[in-house]
Amino acid sequence: MTTQPPVRTTKPRQVRPATEGWSQKKDETGRPLLQFASPKRGKPPVHLADLTADERVAKVKELGMPGFRAKQLEKHYFQHYTSDPALMTDLPAAGRDELVAGMLPPLLTEVKRLETDRGDTIKFLWKLHDGALVESVLMRYPGRITLCVSSQAGCGMNCPFCATGQAGLTRNMSAAEIVEQIVRANRLIADGGLGGKKKDDHSADRVSNIVFMGMGEPLANYARVMQAVRVMVDKDHGLGMSARGITVSTVGLVPAITKLSNEDIPVTFALSLHAPDDVLRDELIPVNSRWKVDEALDAARDYFDKTGRRVSIEYALIKDMNDHAWRADLLAEKLNARGRGWVHVNPIPLNPTPGSIWTASEVPVQNEFVRRLNDAGIPTTLRDTRGKEIDGACGQLVATEDDQVAADATPVA
Ligand code: SAH
Repeated sequence: MTTQPPVRTTKPRQVRPATEGWSQKKDETGRPLLQFASPKRGKPPVHLADLTADERVAKVKELGMPGFRAKQLEKHYFQHYTSDPALMTDLPAAGRDELVAGMLPPLLTEVKRLETDRGDTIKFLWKLHDGALVESVLMRYPGRITLCVSSQAGCGMNCPFCATGQAGLTRNMSAAEIVEQIVRANRLIADGGLGGKKKDDHSADRVSNIVFMGMGEPLANYARVMQAVRVMVDKDHGLGMSARGITVSTVGLVPAITKLSNEDIPVTFALSLHAPDDVLRDELIPVNSRWKVDEALDAARDYFDKTGRRVSIEYALIKDMNDHAWRADLLAEKLNARGRGWVHVNPIPLNPTPGSIWTASEVPVQNEFVRRLNDAGIPTTLRDTRGKEIDGACGQLVATEDDQVAADATPVA
């Protein structure tokens, strides 16, 4: 006996950003506007976390101190999460302030802190030395603490459904500005500022997982992001985190993905795909005008081959835009065509962004999308989304007018 597929009474609607009235910004040559180069602004001060261990020793000597002081500063910063000379009593009082000012200059001034989920999700708004604003989101889960970090102030990738993308790129962040987000979060956790820990949770009281899913396109700021990652994983001269707990997420800058595959640090890799067909992805992810769906998927598969790390495909489910059953099938087909067991899919219902006309797919549509992928043998789980109430969820990070007012009233440290 054969079971008949359910009869469709209505044809699924198909909308695209263009038909919904969104128009893609173009550059002078008529190609979709993408900002790869960081606008020139005053550089943030050089900080210990921007330097290799040897460079730190050299800089300490330049500041007139013996080289071994570098190790002491590393310990204060990466283990005690402090940049305050008053707490560094193992350093000689004479010249201590100058040494600390030279090695651990202030980078992030806290402007605002918003909490939700009874205190176990916290969004920070930071002001950088030049007034640029960035955010990070700290989340406690059973057995782990995740920090969503920013890698650029703003973003140049111009994705229509992402608030950061619509605001444009202000500038690249330095490696130390990226790392400092973690150190400050660790400080808060150590001080008991993150709620929600259950009695039977014996995990360490510090950030265990990093996701590069805050503001910015990490692979457009490659060298600084990689320096930051090196500091995160360095056991002797850094934070000593596990590489697999660090997720680098990208819109699909193919040459940079290839470069990442050849690094010696097996981070978790995530590709923000959002559409399996170029017709739609060209509009949804403007960088698709440079590197097509198949090229991005080939690069993702290559990442798996080189590192053995299973890749994630991110897919924001947008009502009537990219959530059709046939797209789930096409996605499964394209992934299976590249082998089995190398990938999983993480759909996420679209988070609303200011002024956007798009909404999340209906729950039955989400479930059908997930079911089809799973049935085709692709492990697929709907992503848990946190922080919507504080505009801290994926795609919602952008400095608002209120944030700017608060920032203007906050003096830089
Ligand atoms: N630029 C990188 C990292 C930042 S965005 C990237 O695009 O991967 C992190 C994730 O949030 C990406 O998968 C992105 O596509 C997704 N995202 C952006 N806007 C969103 C929204 N409004 N709702 C849900 N997810 C969104």
